[in-house]
Amino acid sequence: MADHPPETGHPRLPTDTDNGLLLIISGPSGVGKTTITRGVERSIPGSVFSVSYTTRAKTEADVEGVDYHFIDHDEFQELIDQDAFLEWADVFGKRYGTRQKWVEEQLARGRLVILEIDVEGAKQVKAKMPEAFGVFILPPSEEELLRRLQSRKRESEELIQKRFAEAQHEIREAKACDVYDRFIINEDLDAAIQEAIMHVKAARIAHGNRSENAPS
Ligand code: 5GP
Repeated sequence: MADHPPETGHPRLPTDTDNGLLLIISGPSGVGKTTITRGVERSIPGSVFSVSYTTRAKTEADVEGVDYHFIDHDEFQELIDQDAFLEWADVFGKRYGTRQKWVEEQLARGRLVILEIDVEGAKQVKAKMPEAFGVFILPPSEEELLRRLQSRKRESEELIQKRFAEAQHEIREAKACDVYDRFIINEDLDAAIQEAIMHVKAARIAHGNRSENAPS
């Protein structure tokens, strides 16, 4: 049993589990959560991004195996039938899910495992793994979120309004459930990334301390 934190030179074994932490990052579309997620992943050693499975169509910006594993409806259903998902949800009419086995393997290696998932999926994860740390990214205001969705020029005005209504609903849901430990307002992207990193580092230390030495 380790009685020193890893930075003191105690070698970490592949079976060490004390510092593995599951991080859930959620937020409405257009809020900048992917950039924040990738910023956390780059800045925290030993962190890994969980590549979800989805039935949504691959866009030109997507890289298979990096952004998502793109599969069809039957393949997704097979994974549900095999009970392979830690969580899965229907988002904008398409299915998205996280493979349980991979997450467990990474946690067993002491990694910080990052899930970028919606509120419904986050609720499922928190019910199964209450120690997961949840971060929800908020826009500075609803007006600003609508402006950001419109400025992406990716979608029709009708779809933008639909996404905006869904975003408002998701924010209300996130505030009402007790899944999220921290809410971060993305007013300035760099500041939001730094804030997320700070909270995650603190959560990791607190999590490690539960099975290692308590601070004196
Ligand atoms: P997009 O298609 O824009 O990449 O993602 C749409 C939404 O699906 C986002 O809110 C994203 O967080 C969510 N999402 C992505 N992967 C997963 C997943 O594995 N599970 C769940 N529940 N939601 C996901």
